[in-house]
Amino acid sequence: MSLLTLDPIETARFRAYGPRHINEIAQRYGLPDDVREAVRLISMVLPFRVNEYVLSELIDWRRIPEDPVFQLVFPQRGMLADDDLRRLAAADAAGDRAGLKAEVQRIRETLNPHPSGQRELNVPTDDGAALPGMQHKYRETVLYFPGQGQTCHTYCTYCFRWAQFVGDADLRFAAPGPEQLVSYLRRHPEVSDVLVTGGDPMVMSTERLRSHLEPLLAIDTVRTIRIGTKSVAYWPHRFVTDKDADDVLRLYEEVVASGRNLAVMAHFSHPRELATGPARQAVARIRTTGALVYCQAPIIAHVNDDPDVWSELWRAELAAGAVPYYMFVERDTGPHGYFKVPLARSQEIFREAYQRLPGLARTVRGPVMSATPGKVAVDGVEETSEGRFFQLRFLQARDPSLVGRPFRARFSSSASWLDDLELDPATDADLTAAVRRHP
Ligand SMILES: *Cc1c(COP(=O)(O)O)cnc(C)c1O
Repeated sequence: MSLLTLDPIETARFRAYGPRHINEIAQRYGLPDDVREAVRLISMVLPFRVNEYVLSELIDWRRIPEDPVFQLVFPQRGMLADDDLRRLAAADAAGDRAGLKAEVQRIRETLNPHPSGQRELNVPTDDGAALPGMQHKYRETVLYFPGQGQTCHTYCTYCFRWAQFVGDADLRFAAPGPEQLVSYLRRHPEVSDVLVTGGDPMVMSTERLRSHLEPLLAIDTVRTIRIGTKSVAYWPHRFVTDKDADDVLRLYEEVVASGRNLAVMAHFSHPRELATGPARQAVARIRTTGALVYCQAPIIAHVNDDPDVWSELWRAELAAGAVPYYMFVERDTGPHGYFKVPLARSQEIFREAYQRLPGLARTVRGPVMSATPGKVAVDGVEETSEGRFFQLRFLQARDPSLVGRPFRARFSSSASWLDDLELDPATDADLTAAVRRHP
């Protein structure tokens, strides 16, 4: 796709809406009262933020509430237990602010706000002091959370980092600046990749983003910089018509010119996100800088638990010149009960979609659980004389010697996470220990 064949995009001003604007949105789009009330109550517990582009270009308002993008962005009845929702409504109706706050806090605590040992196991230290805004789990890759990038253009209802966006600022992964990262990277030459994440680093101005990225270019051992972002889906104007859109492309060019790989890890949940003019133009413009675009998203009930959706999504990514990378399994946090898809079903959906792809789109891997010991792919289901088994494999592990060795667990039609699985007793001891110790 050439830039020349794309229609010009009108400049648009970014405007975000939050819990305070629910009545305004309800009125504008004719939301039924019960839907509006559920959004209002649940957005006291879970983060809610949307912007004008998502409202007017991505949501199909004729299909409320089933529309997948509406489900992706608006809190839904069913995301909280009925009893919790009743208690929340009662506390709200009582008009007691302290009581309501305590109720909100209590419900958040029931939602496993910090899954997979991220706080205990992944935060690196310097002389025993935790380094803020960083995680180092896999030898080659450090995650970096720039403090000013800890929000998004729109929040996904299924976000596994939802706890970052509500509640205590001191529980947040956020680095004030790159100084500590830089000194950590100098002491750890085995780290070749820095994954800048959030939130969404692309909410930062180009100038701010530059202040976080440029210092990394002085470290020879850093060979790849990845930027995790949903901005191409939620605010593609960031790369097209925003006043510093051209500057961001120049910054990307500079990173590439330094001899680094620059990878934009784009989060696309549904093919509709790639179907608009601004989104296609954003990908095309990013590609002109020499940056690579890799695509990943979780498989989510109510949003994309359908092989047709994934097949179309991966084809659209390939057509845009982007690389399909991971299909994740939704983590056991937040409204997991609402969104979870059993591993058996996820594996079927993956396979059915994958079988229809051209070879170049079969770069995608999944379904993958990003669990405490590492990233575990469910490769398939094996029928044996002793019954059915899931075939599993570590794609990443805290212990690199576990990577790539097949192992298996007894088939279950309902299991939706690694700790629901019963490993084959014949599994190698080190694999068993890694999975059992840290489900
Ligand atoms: C997924 C992930 C990475 C990157 O893994 P790749 O397989 O290299 O994409 C790095 N750190 C953490 C904590 C992750 O979850």
